[in-house]
Amino acid sequence: MKMLEGRIAVISGASAGIGKATAEYFAKEGCNLVLIARRLERLKELKKDFEAKYDVSVVIGAVDVSDFDQCKIFFNSLDEKFKAPDILVNNAGLAFGMEKLIEKPVEDMDKMIDVNVKGVIYITKLFVPYMVEKGGGSIVNVGSIAGREVYPGGNVYCATKHAVRALSNALRIELVDSPIRVIEIAPGLVETEFSIVRFKGDKEKADNVYKGLTPLYPDDIADLILYTVTRPPHVQINEVVIMPVNQATTTVIHRKQNE
Ligand code: NAP
Repeated sequence: MKMLEGRIAVISGASAGIGKATAEYFAKEGCNLVLIARRLERLKELKKDFEAKYDVSVVIGAVDVSDFDQCKIFFNSLDEKFKAPDILVNNAGLAFGMEKLIEKPVEDMDKMIDVNVKGVIYITKLFVPYMVEKGGGSIVNVGSIAGREVYPGGNVYCATKHAVRALSNALRIELVDSPIRVIEIAPGLVETEFSIVRFKGDKEKADNVYKGLTPLYPDDIADLILYTVTRPPHVQINEVVIMPVNQATTTVIHRKQNE
C-alpha cells in the first residue's frame, strides 16, 4: 500500500528544486497534487510526467504567490476536494543578492518579503480553513537555517525566514485544538536553482556556494518532508533543522580545496 494513496497535497514552488522533488516523492506514494509556481511550461511537463508514471491527478496553477488576487482566482477555480488538501507545503521562496541592507535595491527587498512571507500567509489563509473543516492534515512550511541565524548579506532574506518560523509557531498555537499539525523544515545548503536566482543568473557565483562540499540535494528534503507527513496522526514534528554534514552554521562550512 502506498503511503499517500488517494490523498491530496498542495505544493507551492513546485516547478523546481525542493518543491519539485517533494511533488515527485508524494506522487510516487499515490498522492494527488495541486502544483503552484509561476512557470506554467514546467508545471505542464510535471503534470504529464507524474500522471503517466504514477497514476495520480495533478492540477497546476501558474500563480505568483505574492499576489493575493492570483492566489484567490486559482483557489476559487479548484474543485471542492482540492480546496481541502491533506497536506499543504508552503515552499515557494527566494533570495536576492548578498549586499548589505543599506545597499540592497528596494525592489529586491520587497520581492523577498512578498514571496517568502506574504506568499505563505496568502496560501495558508486560503487552504487551511478548508483543512480545518475537513478535520485533519499537515502544513509544512519550508523555512531555513536563515530563520535561526543571521549571516553577512543575509539581512532581509533572514528576516523573511525568521518570519516563516514565527508564522509556523503561531499556526501551531492557533491550531492546537485541531488535528492539523504544523511542521517547519529548516534546511542549510541545498543545491537547487536558489543560488542562480539569488545571483540573478551568475552561474559562477552560484556554483561557488556549493564548492568544496557535498551539499544537500532536493531529494534529501523531499524525503524528510515525506517522513514528517506520514507519521501517525497524533505525532507532530514541530521543526527539523537539516544541513550537509560539512556545514555547522550558516557561515561555518568546511570546504575541501580544489574541488
Ligand atoms: P528553487 O530551485 O529556486 O525553487 C524555488 C521555487 O519557488 C520554484 O519552483 C519557483 O517557481 C518558486 N517561486 C519563486 N517565486 C515564486 C512566486 N512569486 N510565486 C510562486 N512560486 C514562486 O529553490 P529551492 O531551494 O528549491 O527553494 C525552495 C524553498 O527552500 C524556498 O523557500 C527557500 O527559501 C528554501 N530554502 C532553500 C535552501 C537552499 O539552500 N536551496 C536552504 C534553505 C531554505 P517559479 O520561478 O516557476 O515561480
